Amino acid sequence: MEEAALWPGGHRSALCISIDVDGIYGEANYRDPDDRYWLSQTAYDPSGTQRLLRLLGDSGVPATFCWVGKVAEENPDLVRHAAADGHEIALHTWDHRYYTRMTPAEQREDMERSVEVLTAVTGVPPVGHKTAGWRYTRETHAIEQELGLLWVMDVPGGDLPFLDQPNPGLPPLVHLPPSRWYDDYTSFVEQVLTPQAAFEAWRDDLDVLRDEGGAMCLTLHPFVSGRPGPSRALARLVDYAIDLGDIWIARADWMARWWLERAADA
Ligand SMILES: [Zn+2]
Repeated sequence: MEEAALWPGGHRSALCISIDVDGIYGEANYRDPDDRYWLSQTAYDPSGTQRLLRLLGDSGVPATFCWVGKVAEENPDLVRHAAADGHEIALHTWDHRYYTRMTPAEQREDMERSVEVLTAVTGVPPVGHKTAGWRYTRETHAIEQELGLLWVMDVPGGDLPFLDQPNPGLPPLVHLPPSRWYDDYTSFVEQVLTPQAAFEAWRDDLDVLRDEGGAMCLTLHPFVSGRPGPSRALARLVDYAIDLGDIWIARADWMARWWLERAADA
């Protein structure tokens, strides 16, 4: 019997462009509250989001925006703009606090509040969640499953999605694998690569994944990849992937639904 295709439509590999809109709350987790130098850099988030939306629109590719609930509440027009352009709007916690510092009840409340706000802003309930800084606990994924979410992007356990069913009586969660080496924070904040160098590193990843059939889930931030020069790293990668002709550039929810269907057919 022929083995089930890894990706739909004859594609050899998949690319998910996920963009975390942290606002000031991401840096507030890592820095001293008085550190205006870093906190103020995140004031660029709305401008960076607009540039990324233009870039994605010019290339005609979809992305997944993981929006911190509080930031979505403060700037709902930008969330609606992204949704109207055909991008997925997903969760990225309420205020970017680490779930490792929260009880399971607090995590649940944090997710419920975020779901409520994003649903109110876009009219569509979000189906995916990326925890802040990938800081989740043993209970996090069980709570996400109970809340009826479809996908999470926390565990770099390999190059393919995998299913997780903490409660066997409920539908499984689809894990999509992120990586710190597909994170613009690694390329442009922890070190400062040129956009060309960041593109070349990501291109090498994509080449290997294409040979092997894997998926690449980028993690970008508007105040980083939305800056003028760094935005070229993404633009070049998107052009490269489009020119290859067999990379499925997909929203996280599309990727997760495909993985579920594929598992059901197996
Ligand atoms: Zn974040």
